[in-house]
Amino acid sequence: MSALILDGKKLSAEIVAGVAVEVSARVQQSLTVPALAVIQVGEDPASSVYVRNKRQACERAGIRSLMYALPAAVTQSELLALVGTLNHNTLVHGILVQLPLPAHIDAATVLERIHPNKDVDGFHPCNIGRLAVRMPDLRSCTPYGVMRLLALAHADMKGLHAVVVGASNHVGRPMGLELLLAGCTVTTCHRFTRDLAEQVAKADILVVAVGRPGLVRGEWIKPGATVIDVGINRLADGRLCGDVEFDVASARAAWITPVPGGVGPMTVAILMENTLRAARKADMALTEEELAE
Ligand code: NAD
Repeated sequence: MSALILDGKKLSAEIVAGVAVEVSARVQQSLTVPALAVIQVGEDPASSVYVRNKRQACERAGIRSLMYALPAAVTQSELLALVGTLNHNTLVHGILVQLPLPAHIDAATVLERIHPNKDVDGFHPCNIGRLAVRMPDLRSCTPYGVMRLLALAHADMKGLHAVVVGASNHVGRPMGLELLLAGCTVTTCHRFTRDLAEQVAKADILVVAVGRPGLVRGEWIKPGATVIDVGINRLADGRLCGDVEFDVASARAAWITPVPGGVGPMTVAILMENTLRAARKADMALTEEELAE
């Protein structure tokens, strides 16, 4: 068996094109152009690549992007003050703080300061909580991007056994909640999981988000499974790879994502959708204010 490829590059281009159509419709209706503020602290090279990709996606979607490049020595209170100012700026609909932040800044405090209605990364405890109680609003970009890819392979995921490897706040945990919402039976594995191979072998849907090349061996994959590799690792020769042993896994799986070209572009595409959604939320908030007058 040779797995079919879940092509994140193609699907993400379609999603961004769809956002562009809706943004131009807003312009026709004299509504505000959705605007995304991206804050980068320091000059981490990987972060600079991610920020550039986001800016390019904004250009394709017709979204206005505002870039805030802060020095690595910025204080936490200066960063919180900028987030506060952007929270109050009605021309800014989405706020994204690029991670990782320098060690002297507490990322959780900064992310929690972003207003939940502008939290286009979907990292705020309110937005993760909404997903947990089956009332999703702004959804974490990577896990929701994975769900959109999975929808290409599974019209209905109810009752499938999904195994998530990795339990971070930004990927693994909301990923488990998304799969639960879709009706899967979900197992979450993490660094303390005793027999990873045994858990992986049960997966009809496997999502791996750890950041260790080759962690999941191809021979562990259940024949016919759908394999989503979120991991992004740079090898010594400069090539990118995921966390799953791709060649062996793709000989057993029915569907698989490549790295690069799988989940990565989907994350950015969902960010564009979330920014559009945040702009619509701002319209609604204005209408409610007008009605209250
Ligand atoms: P993280 O370091 O915050 O979390 C890693 C998780 O893996 C932890 O929950 C840890 O318990 C678990 N883990 C560690 N060793 C393990 C083991 N031996 N067995 C099982 N679980 C183990 O990482 P993260 O931010 O969630 O990112 C994970 C990977 O996904 C990284 O490679 C990152 O670059 C990538 N990523 C990709 C995208 C994308 O858009 N494609 C987005 C975010 C993260």
